Amino acid sequence: MSVCRYCGQEIGWAYSADGKPVPVDTEPVFVIEGGGTDSFYTYEEGENAVIRGRAARPEEESRDLPVAYASHWKTCRSSRRGGRG
Ligand SMILES: [Zn+2]
Repeated sequence: MSVCRYCGQEIGWAYSADGKPVPVDTEPVFVIEGGGTDSFYTYEEGENAVIRGRAARPEEESRDLPVAYASHWKTCRSSRRGGRG
């Protein structure tokens, strides 16, 4: 298990399209593909994918939606993380 060095929250790791490691939240969210410009990451065995969109609101959640992990930089509670992400 990893924790964010800035806020101490537990995080997972995914990989961006160019292979860079990205800290992600440990709770997956439903994603509205194409609904926004945020990146969401999946890290299924042997395969990483990046979905562009936005997190679904509770009333929008559906089993038909893809499930992925949001970048932790979007949700990090610390303001000490600097200019990344
Ligand atoms: Zn953090």
